[in-house]
Amino acid sequence: MYNKRSLTNLANLSKEEIKKFIDSFDVLLTDCDGVLWLENQVYDGSPQALNSLRDLGKKIFFVTNNSTRHRDEFLKKAQKMGFTCEKEEIMTTSYLAANYLKEINFDKKVYVVGSKGITSELEEVNIKYSPIGPDILDCDLMTYIENVKLDPDVGAVVVGFDQHISYPKMLKAASYLNDPNCHFVATNTDERFPIGIGGIVKPGSGAVVRSIETCAERKPFVIGKPETYITEAIKKCCNIDPKRTLMIGDRCNTDILLGTRCGYQTLLVLSGVTNLEDVRKWKESDKKEYQDLVPDFYLGKLGDLLTLIN
Ligand SMILES: [Mg+2]
Repeated sequence: MYNKRSLTNLANLSKEEIKKFIDSFDVLLTDCDGVLWLENQVYDGSPQALNSLRDLGKKIFFVTNNSTRHRDEFLKKAQKMGFTCEKEEIMTTSYLAANYLKEINFDKKVYVVGSKGITSELEEVNIKYSPIGPDILDCDLMTYIENVKLDPDVGAVVVGFDQHISYPKMLKAASYLNDPNCHFVATNTDERFPIGIGGIVKPGSGAVVRSIETCAERKPFVIGKPETYITEAIKKCCNIDPKRTLMIGDRCNTDILLGTRCGYQTLLVLSGVTNLEDVRKWKESDKKEYQDLVPDFYLGKLGDLLTLIN
């Protein structure tokens, strides 16, 4: 039998219990999409709630699997929406992928299957990369294979969200990865984006990563949640006591699972991907893989915390 998480609705707690909850953490990691905003739409009350926690002395990190923006763009977006925020507090998977290569003293070129979010972060740490954007098959496959040129300077393949994913990109990435010394880094493995429009599913980075993983016959080093590299990076700039750390997210198989793996307290907000019915089912399960997805606390939306604090 595994430790069942309490799945407590914060809205049902007394004033004293809320105070005890707020006093129980010093560091807060928050997911962004589905918690603070949805794409370019800020959620009501979320800047005020997060800023109040900061005023109470909480150290805050913005932890996102999104790889499509440079941290400066993220910072601008968050500040424009009313969040008090500094660049050092923003942990995107594109920044961390570049940071990882820098840490291992990587000095070759990166073949990028991804977007400008990744290449701009590589630039910041002076790592060379191949051009991004469309790379299409414009002749028959045999002619292409006979003429394709691989760059001998490439020593790593970094894969993230790439709306131009194509057969030539898969072919090149897998060919580079045939060399066991070539590093294989994936930003994240989210299956889809939180919302599609009019019933359209928007495939996420995970779909791109899996396609390359399949033909490369190798597993990548994954940067994003629920893998724990993000928290290793945070530990380098901030003392973390797991029991006094809170992870807030809207998605249980990334955000909450990361919190569980790290021994953090976890808070699910219901303003994004995961719904409460699913969490209740997981809570009833005896399987550890489901139990690990169950948060300690939940709340309708982050903005509701503001009312509870005051
Ligand atoms: Mg989210």
